[in-house]
Amino acid sequence: MEDIIEIKNVKKIYRVGDEKIIALDDINLKIKQGELCCLLGTSGSGKSTLLNLLAGLEKPSSGSIKIKGINIELLNEKKLVKFRQQHVGFVFQSYNLMSPLTALENVCLPLTFKGISKRAREKEASKMLKSVGLENRLKHKPSQMSGGQQQRVGIARAFVGDPEIVFADEPTGNLDSKTTKEVMELIVSMAKKNNQTLIIVTHDQNIAKFANRIVHIFDGNIEKIEQLNY
Ligand code: ADP
Ligand code: MG
Repeated sequence: MEDIIEIKNVKKIYRVGDEKIIALDDINLKIKQGELCCLLGTSGSGKSTLLNLLAGLEKPSSGSIKIKGINIELLNEKKLVKFRQQHVGFVFQSYNLMSPLTALENVCLPLTFKGISKRAREKEASKMLKSVGLENRLKHKPSQMSGGQQQRVGIARAFVGDPEIVFADEPTGNLDSKTTKEVMELIVSMAKKNNQTLIIVTHDQNIAKFANRIVHIFDGNIEKIEQLNY
């Protein structure tokens, strides 16, 4: 399998007042297409910063990030938006659903930016909601669903339109242990089905076990990489 992501000598420094915070010190990492990769580390170790850089939400202070052969640190904001719309899906800890919209409308959103007709969008979004077990919640708003159900909507939205890469930042951080297991199994099976690359950020060893490879992050550096065999 080919490398879909290649990170070289990435550093991220934040300046707060006079203080310099090295969020990422020197990160080198390659991720293959279809890999389930977990970034594991304690709070403040730099996991979310790394994910945000990979998703093109922030720029590295130095170093390069190549995704599908494109150096995304060189893209302007307009091109980055387009890049994300075409290649990337997101699952957030706090779901980040649009509260006035129904489950169906939330899942339709990413397809809107791809210029797909309303009818085709709704068909595709219903199919996704069915595959996450929410076929009878299409008209529900986020406030009318449990946390686990809202995250299933979040997963349907991340995977709709078949993006090559899906990023998930602490996707089960707000869920109980039973729902956590169900949601993790769902995310992993969705990614495997279409050979998508999945990158999950967590501080939880038990979540990390769902991955093929665990990248241990400590103090802005990769401490070790653990290959899991099945
Ligand atoms: P994690 O996701 O592993 O908990 P983060 O990547 O959020 O860690 O943060 C890594 C370090 O960078 C922390 O020390 C954090 O305080 C700092 N940091 C993160 N984002 C910012 C920011 N926007 N401005 C200043 N410091 C930040
Ligand atoms: Mg974080």
